[in-house]
Amino acid sequence: MQPTSRRIRPRRRAAALASVTVLTLAVSTSAGSGHLTAGSSTAAGPIAPTRASPLGACMISGAMGVQMSEGVPTSAGYARSTGTVRALNLMIDFSDATGEGDALDRYGEFFPQTTDWFRTSSYGRLDYRPEAPIGDWLRMPKPFKAYGIERGAPFDPGYRELVQDIVAAADPAVDFRRYDLLNILITPNAGPSALDTVLSVTFAGNTEAPVADGVPVANASFVYSRQDDGSGSYAETGYRVLPHENGHVFGLPDLYTQDGGGAVGHWDIMSEDWGADNDLLGWHKWKLGWLDDSQVGCAADPGTTEHVLTPLAEPGTGAKLVFVPVDATTGYAVELRTRAGNDEAVCKPGVLVYKVDATVDTGRGPVTVVDSTRDSGGCTRSPNVHAELSDAPFSPGQYFKDLESGIRITVAGADAAGNHRVYVTRG
Ligand SMILES: [Zn+2]
Repeated sequence: MQPTSRRIRPRRRAAALASVTVLTLAVSTSAGSGHLTAGSSTAAGPIAPTRASPLGACMISGAMGVQMSEGVPTSAGYARSTGTVRALNLMIDFSDATGEGDALDRYGEFFPQTTDWFRTSSYGRLDYRPEAPIGDWLRMPKPFKAYGIERGAPFDPGYRELVQDIVAAADPAVDFRRYDLLNILITPNAGPSALDTVLSVTFAGNTEAPVADGVPVANASFVYSRQDDGSGSYAETGYRVLPHENGHVFGLPDLYTQDGGGAVGHWDIMSEDWGADNDLLGWHKWKLGWLDDSQVGCAADPGTTEHVLTPLAEPGTGAKLVFVPVDATTGYAVELRTRAGNDEAVCKPGVLVYKVDATVDTGRGPVTVVDSTRDSGGCTRSPNVHAELSDAPFSPGQYFKDLESGIRITVAGADAAGNHRVYVTRG
């Protein structure tokens, strides 16, 4: 199975700062995707509900050739996203970019925050275990410049060479078979400032990657520079690039597009990972296996159905997501967003409605949030939060109607506990 095309994707334009780029590589989803070798700890897919389940009509799936799809279930080859997941962290430096300070301080920029972020977002279902078995900078044999790493650099030849050199340097001290994913935390002085160009990148489901201890280094995130916007909040929010990159390792696509975060705003970390903390969409939580099927409603039948949504960011067994399929590849997702958990920037709590299209590839806009108050300018002044969509949620008394499909989603009211009652009507 050959890795397919690689793309350069400008990321969000953060508060008039330069646009930034990330590149995601995933293997083709063409026939026979069970491509990891036996014994690989990354072989299991996140979830595999069957189409025979009551949610079958909501398990939209994409077309052949989509690299990273919003379809359910996530195709095989990515790292497991539930249970204990072991993350190997290696801090690397180069002769022309020598590590500044203690390598474990670099590690400390991301942990324990990343672990906590995943525990909160997954309601404890992802037990993320980071390890840094080599406490020093791992010096690469060639200077940084020699690897040809730049914005949009493909896996071959530069990253392949880098991964080979990392494996060779770490192998005496590391058993790669013990880990589900790899984080390469690069000395921040290698390459440009993240304000100019974000080099951070993930190669996910990459079974053609170099082999270490008998397993391909198939799911690896590379984090460069520091996502520091100068607001003084780096210590609290700078780690958030890593949960974003690891999201790819678990099979999630980029939700920002060439135009930045205008499709999804701050409603998912795969859309915006600068600025205040944010959570994942309920669709992503279902895709990752963090919601039980009993917490997901599938409004596929004609007529009107009633659903009571509990806040997505809060733990509990209540309903978190309603999906309204339009056809076999697209549909509307409905969820209740409040300021809680990882969602610290929510300025207008309410019912978020968004369209999911499993045929649209990563970085091309596979998810589009419906704005209940278009051209309002939004309700946030939080830096690096897409303002216009910050007040996108629907409030009691409001409804959304898709004229083409005849689907109508009405927010009927909220109870004393804050749960929202939603009616879905299909023509
Ligand atoms: Zn990304």
